[in-house]
Amino acid sequence: MSNFLIAIDGPAGSGKSTIAKLLSERLGFNHLDTGAMYRAVAVYLDSKGFTPENVPDEELEKIDVQYIDNELYLNGERVREEEIRSAKAGQLASSFAVVPKVREKLTQLQRKICERGNFVVEGRDIGTVVLPHAQVKIFLTASFEERVKRRAEELKSKGIELSLEEVARQIEERDKRDSSRNLAPLKPAEDAIVIDTTGKSIERVLEEVIEAVDRRKRNEAVRC
Ligand code: C5P
Repeated sequence: MSNFLIAIDGPAGSGKSTIAKLLSERLGFNHLDTGAMYRAVAVYLDSKGFTPENVPDEELEKIDVQYIDNELYLNGERVREEEIRSAKAGQLASSFAVVPKVREKLTQLQRKICERGNFVVEGRDIGTVVLPHAQVKIFLTASFEERVKRRAEELKSKGIELSLEEVARQIEERDKRDSSRNLAPLKPAEDAIVIDTTGKSIERVLEEVIEAVDRRKRNEAVRC
């Protein structure tokens, strides 16, 4: 039987990461955070002095990202959360993510990782580009105000205190860049289930997602 793939896309602060993590635990699936891959690769390229305007092909070719026991490794080194979760890493990720050859490389790596089992995969273009054949596609949204509040709280829990205005500015900038890029812009796949999480508890959103997964599994069983 082919592996079961669940795509969870949405903008920053929509609740993707929380839901993807809980869902993967509930189902016993692997959890691939493709934003973490973009962040890790962007921080790495930046540390080597490259900018989105000048990423050498040889450098990209050498990049390898492995997923082992729910951890990411870049060229053999474990990617540490504290290195990739800063606001700067987020901005770097979205700047490098507009470069077509960077996206192609990461798309290839993501597809390869997902061949190895059942996965909940979170990102921006999973349902549209990376895994258009995923059995379930979810697109999470939330109001701008709620997304800003959630992101500010998330940063605070990591010891990063920023004003709501500053977080709003950063999210607005990233939203604009992610939605307007030509290649793989942030948008729901035609067959995605769109869930607005504004004002909903995590448990409620998780239940809605699990219902969608169960519906799909029942349909598959009927077709078999
Ligand atoms: O999800 P996260 O905020 O960690 O992603 C960081 C950035 O990486 C996003 O703003 C986006 O520009 C980029 N990204 C992407 N495609 C994905 C995942 C992330 O372009 N599948």
